[in-house]
Amino acid sequence: MTLTRPRTPQITIIGSLNIDFVTATPRCPAAGETLTATSLTVSAGGKGGNQAVACGRSSFTSRTTQDVTVNMIGAVGANDPYYSTLLKPALETSGVDTASIEQSEHAQTGSATIIVEEGSGGENRILVVPGANHAGLMGDMGNIVAALRAQERYPDIVVLQGEIPRETTLSLLSYFNSGEKGAKVAFNPAPVFPDGVPLEKLCGTAVLIMNETEVVQMARSIQGLPVGDVVEGDDLRPEELAPQFHERAGVEIVLITLGAKGVYFSTKTGRTGTVAGVKVAKVVDTTAAGDTFVGYFATAVARFLASGKGLEAFDEEIEAAVSRANSAAAMCVQRRGAMQSIPFAYDLE
Ligand code: ADP
Repeated sequence: MTLTRPRTPQITIIGSLNIDFVTATPRCPAAGETLTATSLTVSAGGKGGNQAVACGRSSFTSRTTQDVTVNMIGAVGANDPYYSTLLKPALETSGVDTASIEQSEHAQTGSATIIVEEGSGGENRILVVPGANHAGLMGDMGNIVAALRAQERYPDIVVLQGEIPRETTLSLLSYFNSGEKGAKVAFNPAPVFPDGVPLEKLCGTAVLIMNETEVVQMARSIQGLPVGDVVEGDDLRPEELAPQFHERAGVEIVLITLGAKGVYFSTKTGRTGTVAGVKVAKVVDTTAAGDTFVGYFATAVARFLASGKGLEAFDEEIEAAVSRANSAAAMCVQRRGAMQSIPFAYDLE
């Protein structure tokens, strides 16, 4: 009989890192107009970075104990003061190893310039420059694999989003979904690539996490239809959408986040349900709520796999894991900002 010994769970996030420049203004300037705005906030962001921070923070069982190893593979511009003073400290104080982040001589750090129009109820206008997220290492599957191989072993979970090149993401899905590498993929297709994700690339994905818009776009994609724009308020029936991902693409766990309503979950082995969202007194800012959910859920799965159990057996724990990730995301929506609003696990106790 072989005994499986628990080992330290390991997660690798392969994704985007951004600096967010958020300017609040009473109204947007017209072409050629200069206007005095209210404030400028510069903060660390990018879905990859946010989810890495969420994985890291969810693994702090106390202020001094971290029970999961979290690595980030990403790219920023070389000698970028915003990286050294903002992004890197945010990741590292959240328990994320930054050794595999490339500092590129050829591209600048990705950025999002966000204009928040206070007069119109906080409507956003966002300009994204992908920069290093779409260059160098992030377009080079060979070097990403080399960075993964440099780690002691493959992680239990690889977390992917949609903010690095589509080709790289599809290659990573093929690489890990074959099952030979031992690492499982948690994929949050946000944003959904305009050309979607071919069915055969999605096949075998362990965990697929989508919000209400993304699930419709992804369902269209696997049906071979154009991803298209999704009209808000489309009558969403998660119980009809989720089985398509199990039956057609062999996805093991499908999670559909429903904002304040919580999360619909469905497993390949037939367990389904909705875990209601946590009621909060006041929603301050929902930025990074989805990323918080993804990071907390991925960490729960990594812990489970590292204990030596197979993902099929996770059915017994899925509701508890969703519920905890909901609690973390509910705390996030009560705080302003992106990365800084993601709670540490010990904050939830
Ligand atoms: P995204 O931010 O990616 O669009 P959602 O809006 O579905 O994703 O939110 C992700 C998760 O955050 C939800 O499943 C829920 O757990 C939590 N959440 C979002 N909005 C609220 C809210 N108003 N109250 C409580 N929890 C919320």
